[in-house]
Amino acid sequence: MLLTPNVGVQNSGRKYLPTPTETQETPSPNQELLPLTSKVNSQDCLEIGGCDVTTLVQQFGSPLYILDEETLRTACRQYRDGFKRHYAGSSQVLYASKAWSCLAVCAIARSEGLGIDVVSGCELYTALKAGVSPDKIYFHGNNKSVEELTLAVESRCTIVVDNWLELKTLAGLRTKQESSPQSPAPIRIMLRFTPGIECHTHEYIRTGHLDSKFGFDPNQLEEVFAFITQQPNLHCIGLHAHIGSQIFELQPHEDLAGVIVQWFGKAAKLGLPVTELNIGGGLGIRYTESDDPPSIEDWVKTVSDGITQACQAQQIPLPKLLCEPGRSLIGSACVTAYTVGSTKVVPDIRTYVSVDGGMSDNPRPITYQSIYRTVVANRMSEPITQTVTLAGKHCESGDILIKEAALPKTEPGDILVVMDTGAYNYSMASNYNRLPRPAAVLVGQGEANLILQRETYQDLIRQDCIPDRLAFGN
Ligand SMILES: *Cc1c(COP(=O)(O)O)cnc(C)c1O
Repeated sequence: MLLTPNVGVQNSGRKYLPTPTETQETPSPNQELLPLTSKVNSQDCLEIGGCDVTTLVQQFGSPLYILDEETLRTACRQYRDGFKRHYAGSSQVLYASKAWSCLAVCAIARSEGLGIDVVSGCELYTALKAGVSPDKIYFHGNNKSVEELTLAVESRCTIVVDNWLELKTLAGLRTKQESSPQSPAPIRIMLRFTPGIECHTHEYIRTGHLDSKFGFDPNQLEEVFAFITQQPNLHCIGLHAHIGSQIFELQPHEDLAGVIVQWFGKAAKLGLPVTELNIGGGLGIRYTESDDPPSIEDWVKTVSDGITQACQAQQIPLPKLLCEPGRSLIGSACVTAYTVGSTKVVPDIRTYVSVDGGMSDNPRPITYQSIYRTVVANRMSEPITQTVTLAGKHCESGDILIKEAALPKTEPGDILVVMDTGAYNYSMASNYNRLPRPAAVLVGQGEANLILQRETYQDLIRQDCIPDRLAFGN
């Protein structure tokens, strides 16, 4: 979408500032483009968490991920308190850490009472190292290795079983810990199935339709239930389904509530009394003005009402209700600051403005054709006068961060902030072209703390090995 340039500061970077909070309740972070603490200071610079973005770049380098603690905590609380308000049973919100897994982010989620959903051995390791209690960690994945399963069993987290191979592997697993005691604790599992629900999102991030690589097909479930009832080593506590990501409709989650409660009832009838239901994540966030996701509160209410009504209709007690949002917890809490470098004008066609990062720190545009918005952090009030293409610095013509970026005139050294980069940016980052991955800082109340160090050239060659005969000097 091309922005029509208006006159005046109304059409400047300021238009992305969050709605003032004095008069109304706290906004839902997933409905804002900039973090909740964003302001413009007297130097006309963008300030987040009380820190001037241009000063942060001077201090920590560029590009830089800037994570606003208050926005992340607000989203955690809106989910957590929303369930307390709208759901009469017990509930547990899990942070889907694949959105951004690192020690500090897991520790913030933990301190807000959230559990963590992990999808690999190292995401599990990270959550454990961040002090998350294993009974609040849920391990997903459609092809977990035996090593990963062993680590999961030894750490006593819950394993969300995806398929027959995994189920049989777990049933037969005897770990070091369990070979000695007389009666080892059974392995706590949940079962993931594909609920057969369509939703409107990019096909790569759709997971709930029947033709998906994730989870048991519903027609396998009765057999799976019967198998588990015969396994003293396995304790099945519940069912899980996740329908996709960046979803703006509430209807699919309402439908999912009906489907999952139906299987909840069936499991009990077939001799497998489960107590937990996990309805996944998937709530979308606003990346552009035209995106219109529901608030966290509305999503929580829809899910809670859906589960409650379905349980009442079937006259079954309310399960412990779990959900596992990723993007809507952290997506809007972070921005990426870049420094402007070269500009290329192709007359009558396009102007390319290049920055010092690109597809290595944000692979979403090239992977999903995702659209972002940007502002000049050091001139927030300057009117927008041009539409340019914001290019990354990688050797790839497709390395375009924003195809049509509406900006004031830019100069080398300007600091551009791309918004809503908290989810699936750092976690999907690569070292393509041997670019060191950026640093990340956590900001709040005027302080900035490093949470990820910038990689160095040494870091990047650390795993390189060279046979003696090829070594330098030979
Ligand atoms: C990706 C994923 C999530 C999180 O999705 P978001 O869209 O980031 O909320 C939750 N659960 C499962 C199983 C997932 O694969």
